[in-house]
Amino acid sequence: MKIMVTGGAGFIGSNFILYMMREHPDYQIVNFDKLTYAGNLRNLESVQDNPNYSFIKGDICDRDLLFDTVKDVDVVVHLAAESHVDRSIMDASPFVLTNVLGTMVLLDAALKYGKRFHHVSTDEVYGALGLDDPGFNEQTPYDPRNPYSACKAGSDHLVRSYFHTHELPITISNCSNNYGAYQFPEKVIPLFLSNLKEGKKVPLYGVGAQIRDWIYVDDHCHGIDMILHKGKIGETYCLGGKDSEITNKELTTKILELCGKDESSIEYVKDRAGHDARYSIDYTKAKNELGWEPQVNLEDGLRMTKEWYDANQDWVDEIKSGDYEKYYNKQYVQREQD
Ligand code: NAD
Repeated sequence: MKIMVTGGAGFIGSNFILYMMREHPDYQIVNFDKLTYAGNLRNLESVQDNPNYSFIKGDICDRDLLFDTVKDVDVVVHLAAESHVDRSIMDASPFVLTNVLGTMVLLDAALKYGKRFHHVSTDEVYGALGLDDPGFNEQTPYDPRNPYSACKAGSDHLVRSYFHTHELPITISNCSNNYGAYQFPEKVIPLFLSNLKEGKKVPLYGVGAQIRDWIYVDDHCHGIDMILHKGKIGETYCLGGKDSEITNKELTTKILELCGKDESSIEYVKDRAGHDARYSIDYTKAKNELGWEPQVNLEDGLRMTKEWYDANQDWVDEIKSGDYEKYYNKQYVQREQD
């Protein structure tokens, strides 16, 4: 199987490529990524010389390049997106361009060449839950409440519309908050680990009352793999974490404990505008139909994540200093010129 992964240099995309190359060494992977601030080819250093891996630097809004790439693959797994809610609040335009328009161009390409299309989406499209509400499932009505989730909702609707209107063979996954190796240090878990290591405080929104359902990124990758192989065309699958529903304050306390710090390291900051109160996923359908279940609980996942960040401080330092652009130039531009 030849799989085109969009956004393969990002957090989940690079974990997904590494996962697939481990689990299916005979598959070919084409990583198509624009390399925005969130894309980092260093994540894929371990596979960059594998003949079954290739990289194309490109924007999913670039029709010609995209069509040329899609033509030669069997399956598209679409992860490319602007993904940070706080950035979408500052400026929604890149979110509309990549998440909505880019998804449409990619769908057009998949349609033209009749390719299987898997769309990776988020539970944030369902809005927010009350404390006693049951978790989101595939029937939950859409109610996005920030520009990021609104654009992801738009892309989900487009993907479904290409199935109903054009019979494009699609599947969709809506997943809860991911964490693990290679996550950009602007997101809460790596941000807090990194701040504490540097002796800084951790900024906690409001009083930390929001509840999130955390999934270890390998569990998400395994879920996408199972959908590719066992998922029913036209269907959506909700994927969530293993016993990992927790308030942001409780999460912060766990991270403080892991790092040997106490609550004096918390700095309470003004809450995010429109901050959704609670997300929770009911993954019964994925369990019953695919036999998928998350394997890693929050304690183990946080410990493994901390161990990875401790062992890869140079990765964090490079990102913080913007050095990974130099890496790209060294690895790809200079090699081309030599
Ligand atoms: P990320 O921001 O770490 O990575 C996004 C990648 O997409 C980057 O490598 C970036 O360079 C690339 N990209 C951005 N715009 C592009 C464009 N126009 N053309 C080509 N490439 C482009 O994001 P992530 O956290 O890895 O999320 C990946 C996907 O999973 C997103 O679609 C996101 O909505 C979804 N998702 C994320 C989470 C989460 O907790 N992180 C949860 C559920 C779903």
